[in-house]
Amino acid sequence: MFEQGVIRPPSEASSLLVRVTRNCPWNRCHICPAFKGKKFSRRSVEEVKKDIDMMAAFYGPRSRSFTSAFLQDADSLILPADELVEIIGHIKKTFPSIERITTYARAKSMKKKNPRDYQRLREAGLNRIHTGMESGSIEVLKLIRKGITPKDILVGGRRVAESGISLSEYIMPGVGGRALSREHALETARLLNQIRPNFIRVRTFAVHPQSPLQKMVEEGTFEPMNDEEIVREIRLLLENLDEIPSHFRCGDFSLNLLMNVDGRLDDRKQAMLDEIDRYLALTQEEKQAYSLIQRSYPGMMDLSVVKDKDVVEQAAIKIKSLESREADGFNKYVRRLMSFQLPQPQTDAWG
Ligand code: SF4
Repeated sequence: MFEQGVIRPPSEASSLLVRVTRNCPWNRCHICPAFKGKKFSRRSVEEVKKDIDMMAAFYGPRSRSFTSAFLQDADSLILPADELVEIIGHIKKTFPSIERITTYARAKSMKKKNPRDYQRLREAGLNRIHTGMESGSIEVLKLIRKGITPKDILVGGRRVAESGISLSEYIMPGVGGRALSREHALETARLLNQIRPNFIRVRTFAVHPQSPLQKMVEEGTFEPMNDEEIVREIRLLLENLDEIPSHFRCGDFSLNLLMNVDGRLDDRKQAMLDEIDRYLALTQEEKQAYSLIQRSYPGMMDLSVVKDKDVVEQAAIKIKSLESREADGFNKYVRRLMSFQLPQPQTDAWG
């Protein structure tokens, strides 16, 4: 049977998943449960091609319904361009209806590929690279043990952007905690303004209960931010982003409190700031009610839901009871709800 990895971007939900490497070559980030407990390995071109043939046989006539493929797992660009070109060619030959091929890559691997490599990958059919920069702040990158620097992110990101391959940069509001929030917002905006990726995908941070950051929360060395503080951080970031031709996306990830802050910066920046300000203008009770509803039933929701007095009153009863149980009970409850949306590590020994 062919292999498949554990994750792919939400936008690749209906893509053919082709596993070209296993797990993550770095695998030390404090924010990421996905591959914990699993070792990285490369797969040979022959092995991957056999998988592609097996998938064609497995899907039979349904093979023609695939219009996109995603190369797994965490960092396909670690493979030489020659190997990737051969794999992409085999996908296109075996699944002729596939028009879009995308992958994840780490900034360090993106930086190691030269313009000629990118040209060959683009010509072969690689359309988009998804990469988790998380932050433009060196302090935040160190805190979460990301294993990359702002320079890696900038050089790698610019190379992809200049090659004509579409670039999605993932950022993580809240991940610097209270102490690094301002620096995180400003440095992330500064770097993104230089990279000018096609997509800036917002992934609000949630503490995984097994992560080293949870231990830091318990020891008092990391102060997690509440929903309102994270929204203020996103506002500062957005304010400092230029009107670049990038799509700022909150709408594709349900841990983002304000999922309808979503649009192109060169077209809807002010409208997105206005939406954030609509939230910030709510009363404290309305904001908490909104958090409670959004965290309990994650999804796209309009702020007008908390203009219903009954809704706010019912939420207030629940919030009062949570606050009476323990100090900061409401925010702790919200963080627990948020953690349920995270992937699980493949080990009990993380952290
Ligand atoms: S965030 Fe990316 S680089 Fe870090 S451990 Fe997870 S997959 Fe690997």
